[in-house]
Amino acid sequence: MIYLDNAGTTKVSPHVLEEMLPYFSEEYGNASSLHSLGQRAKEVIENARTTIAKCINANPKEIYFTSGGSESDNQAILSVANIGKRTNKRHIISSKFEHHAVLHTLEKLKKEGFEITYLDVYENGIVRPEDVENAIKDDTCLVTIMFANNEIGTIQPIKEIGEICRKHKVIFHTDAVQAVGHIPIDVEKMNIDLLSLSAHKFHGPKGVGALYAKSNVLLSSLIEGGAQEKGKRAGTENVAGIVGMATALYDACQEMEEVSKKETYLRDKLISSLSKIPHSALNGDAKKRVPNNFCMCFEGIEGESLLLLLDDAGICASSGSACTSGSLDPSHVLLAIGRPHEVAHGSLRLTLSKYTTEDEIDFVIKKVPEIVEYLRKISPVWDELKKGERKYAI
Ligand SMILES: *Cc1c(COP(=O)(O)O)cnc(C)c1O
Repeated sequence: MIYLDNAGTTKVSPHVLEEMLPYFSEEYGNASSLHSLGQRAKEVIENARTTIAKCINANPKEIYFTSGGSESDNQAILSVANIGKRTNKRHIISSKFEHHAVLHTLEKLKKEGFEITYLDVYENGIVRPEDVENAIKDDTCLVTIMFANNEIGTIQPIKEIGEICRKHKVIFHTDAVQAVGHIPIDVEKMNIDLLSLSAHKFHGPKGVGALYAKSNVLLSSLIEGGAQEKGKRAGTENVAGIVGMATALYDACQEMEEVSKKETYLRDKLISSLSKIPHSALNGDAKKRVPNNFCMCFEGIEGESLLLLLDDAGICASSGSACTSGSLDPSHVLLAIGRPHEVAHGSLRLTLSKYTTEDEIDFVIKKVPEIVEYLRKISPVWDELKKGERKYAI
């Protein structure tokens, strides 16, 4: 099996699994217990906090453990909304192509009377800092812009947006789930107040994540209960998950340069080879994207059919985000970069990992054009396009 859906989730690395195992068996203490078994659990949690903080240049006191990226996004945005309610600032700036964990949270706030501005991401899939500055008003409490997009991989000008937010004293959150462990991040240099990350996107386990919150941002808790995580996140800590996340992030940061070089090479090989398919188009900027992301549209085909035939050939791919698949609506991300509906349906996302080999990529480069050609042959739409009864969009 060739796994090219690493933006959906990644394999837990053997090293991460090995580090996690003792916390299911011998070291099963509850970090709130006063006995030594519990205190040892507390200690490994604090060590993990320090490791994670170092990887993004934060203070360990500013790291809160959560159940994943979605929870971190919810907590970050809802916390600032609560600050906004108290200070009578009910305007939030975001972008059109955020993850649903952000978009749906913002829609909920809209129903509560917040005003949301969704910035354009243009054809290259990148927010313009000047648009952020122009959108800021007296009652803006939050800017939330993702670090790297999960479908098309484009990297946003986070440092510049952060600078603008600092200048205007607006809190800045970034959903960095696709960026952490893949590209260098420094919350200090990049002026980030809140940042979401998730372990299963960098070879850690599912169901564990973290929220970085700068000390001056008051967090609200989403879950009532015990006093874990300084009272900001109740519930017995997921010790094995936290250890797994810290190990995975440490490894990812150690290997980043090497992995990124290899992924960039293989990704660019995919882009240059598959671009030769007529009426195809790369989604998002070719260079300003995470090293492991390839995303392209092919006119006249259905992405789902392509995925099924790739699966038959032993290739796990995606047509966009795992959350949108299963619904017939085209991806909001592809619509946001201006792809017409019929083209947005024909998308293919291949996301690489450190385990991806050149042989695998070569096989994909051979298979995709064959399948696209086959699907076009049986497509009534393609027939109309060929006969000139319909205009090509790409
Ligand atoms: C995967 C993902 C999330 C959700 O993270 P979970 O840990 O699966 O809840 C949020 N944002 C982005 C950009 C993602 O890619």
